[in-house]
Amino acid sequence: MTRQFSNIKAVVLDLDGTVYEGESLVDGALDSITSLRQHGFGIYFCTNNSTRTRQEIADKLVRLGIETTSTLVFSAGYAAAHYLVNKGFTQVSLLGMPGLKTELIAAGLTVMDRIEQGQALVVGLDQTMTYATMSKFATLLDKNVPVIACNRDRWFPGDNSELMPGCGIMADLVEALLGRGIDFVAGKPNTLLLELLSKQAGIDKDEILVVGDSLDSDIAVAKAYGSQAILYDPRGAADVYESSIVSMHDLTEMILG
Ligand SMILES: [Mg+2]
Repeated sequence: MTRQFSNIKAVVLDLDGTVYEGESLVDGALDSITSLRQHGFGIYFCTNNSTRTRQEIADKLVRLGIETTSTLVFSAGYAAAHYLVNKGFTQVSLLGMPGLKTELIAAGLTVMDRIEQGQALVVGLDQTMTYATMSKFATLLDKNVPVIACNRDRWFPGDNSELMPGCGIMADLVEALLGRGIDFVAGKPNTLLLELLSKQAGIDKDEILVVGDSLDSDIAVAKAYGSQAILYDPRGAADVYESSIVSMHDLTEMILG
């Protein structure tokens, strides 16, 4: 614990590996959220999750005992939908789960039945991916359709800290199938999620403190956006980041100094 934080209005928490792992709360997360709210901080959730809607994510948090509404949840799927609408796309195709489809539709997009019918292809984590799914990409080989990935996280912690293949693996696979790169990545470390949060919550970048377990997404997005950050590093690998905690129980004390 090396530095003081100032002027913080919003604590923006990563979810997987920071607030929960699979269906279990991370020890200390609930107590810290409760205490930070009592101290007047706004609590927001910023996740690279690309399989569930914001409402489904909020429902999970409530089920685990954390009060929230979907408006406090900023997900990679939500960011991808916002980006596509903003760029003028109306019809998209999807590699991903029903939750992402719902998020895209909620933003006003039409999700086409066939992968070659979209003006853009959205790539999320597809937990039902098969060889047949990959075969469909042949129809895209001669098309220069923009590909938007929800994130490039290759692994994320599931139940009992077991690592699960993430959306980044899907993005790698799509790049291999199409023989070209992804055009846009909507989730962290892209600052789009924090920009949306700033705009909707009326909070400036320097009033935001990001808390997460990933240097590459959470700390990177905070640095890129000009926000402050704390790394939750339960393995306690010393000195990987200047402001680190090994237990989520220590969060309030770390912030208040
Ligand atoms: Mg995480």
